[in-house]
Amino acid sequence: MSAILTAVNLVKTYTEGRIAAPVLKGLNLAVPAQQLTAVVGRSGSGKSTLLHILGTLDRPTSGELWFEDQNVLKLSDKARAQLRARHLGFVYQFHHLLMDFTALENVELPLLIAGVPESKARAQAAEYLEKVGLKDKLHFRPSELSGGQRQRVAIARALCPQPDLILADEPTGNLDEANAAQIFRLFETLVRQERRAVVMVTHDQSLAAKCDHVFVLENGRGAFKGAADDAAVS
Ligand code: ADP
Ligand code: MG
Repeated sequence: MSAILTAVNLVKTYTEGRIAAPVLKGLNLAVPAQQLTAVVGRSGSGKSTLLHILGTLDRPTSGELWFEDQNVLKLSDKARAQLRARHLGFVYQFHHLLMDFTALENVELPLLIAGVPESKARAQAAEYLEKVGLKDKLHFRPSELSGGQRQRVAIARALCPQPDLILADEPTGNLDEANAAQIFRLFETLVRQERRAVVMVTHDQSLAAKCDHVFVLENGRGAFKGAADDAAVS
């Protein structure tokens, strides 16, 4: 099994005043390509910190990050932003949609920013909204949608640029069981049919159990469930 993203000996220490709080203490993780990986761990264990570093939204205090054969932390800011735009997608617990924009406008925006021509961006955004079951809500604003529907718009927005890896931080954290199950099925379909990789932070044991891999974050380090130690998947 190959890894799409590999974190080596990640250390992250937040410093506030004179107090240094180590969160990640030499964490190793090889994210399997084209598979669904759950990240679990108690609240405050560093799951969001890890996801931000994997997504190049934040830098570790030390350690390495490899995307395929690119040494991510050594790239220029511009090259790293490009890598992020081309290959990575994010879904958060709170949807972060633009409230004055329709579902369609929210989803097409990242494409327009990436320079995709308007008619193509619009068609692609509509296609992804259809994939998440919102074909009849294209022109609705977030305030006119339910929590589950908003989260599906956020997922369509993350998927639309066709990233190889989706990083999702508790994407079902605010949803009831039925909506959470629907979001999970979407991720599953994506992985199986479109060969993307998904890393999903979740508190939901039953969802984690349905993933291909479960990475348990504990004491600043982590290991795949069932693995003897925190050795990477090879
Ligand atoms: P989780 O997502 O597992 O709940 P987080 O990664 O959000 O954990 O946080 C891990 C620890 O790091 C927590 O103790 C949190 O308070 C601290 N932390 C997170 N972000 C920051 C920050 N920007 N500045 C200082 N401390 C932070
Ligand atoms: Mg978190």
